[in-house]
Amino acid sequence: MLSYQHLYHAGNLADVHKHATLAWVLDYLTRKDKPLTYIETHAGRGVYDLTAAEAVRTGEAAAGIALAQGWFPPDHPYRQRLDETRAAYGPNAYPGSPLIAALGLRETDALHLAELHPQEHAHLKAVAQDWGAHVYQRDGFELALALTPPTPRRGLMLIDPSYEVKADYDAIPRHMTSIHRKWNVGILILWYPILRGGPHGPMLKALEATFPDGLRHEVRFPPAREGHRMEGSGLFIVNPPYGLAEELAAITTRFARLSKPIARP
Ligand code: SAM
Repeated sequence: MLSYQHLYHAGNLADVHKHATLAWVLDYLTRKDKPLTYIETHAGRGVYDLTAAEAVRTGEAAAGIALAQGWFPPDHPYRQRLDETRAAYGPNAYPGSPLIAALGLRETDALHLAELHPQEHAHLKAVAQDWGAHVYQRDGFELALALTPPTPRRGLMLIDPSYEVKADYDAIPRHMTSIHRKWNVGILILWYPILRGGPHGPMLKALEATFPDGLRHEVRFPPAREGHRMEGSGLFIVNPPYGLAEELAAITTRFARLSKPIARP
């Protein structure tokens, strides 16, 4: 049974980490005049209202994007996607990764989105009808294997599970190996939470053994509220594009502001 709903967590610091990276990679890839494919295995609903009771209740956006948007200059692709989202969907809207992709892609690019939860899928389907996206209510890994190698062959896959099922940690390295075997030029971006106790450790070990050239990037932050187990956010990237390591170093610097004491008059 699926119970996770991203509306409770949209715009938190993990989203800032993941979405800023995604927006940068898409901006980099679309500088070349060649079409690409974007596939997302766990898409969520696409756009979030940060004034919804669920979002307000956890306070994660207040401790996330509300704090972090000033970290990004107006010409940063993430900041541009935030501004475009607010212009199109209202001042309290926050873009999920599918909308960051839709706003960053061109008409010649292909956009494929999997979301299994019936309610989330219905929201996504309604909003994505304007984006020229293919939306599927199907298991994300099953879809990823069915679509690869995609046309166009150049492109990117975002893998962003909710880790509701602890077996995900074991299964992800196997899924990513199978996807990479079918699509060896595809950029694969996996997001994972850094939770107290480090349940992601064995998964990372397996990924680093299979993909020795993969790029791992992690940021730490204070728990959004008392008792919250998430202490940080991680990305593991297969076939990282040129320049991404430098961009991730800039993201590290931005997150480091969180540990600096707030200047008082
Ligand atoms: N990627 C989204 C974003 O950044 O805006 C957030 C996605 S959220 C972390 C994970 C989503 O995966 C949830 O909406 C959940 O319903 C969905 N989900 C869970 N299991 C799935 C599966 N096997 N296949 C596809 N979607 C799934």
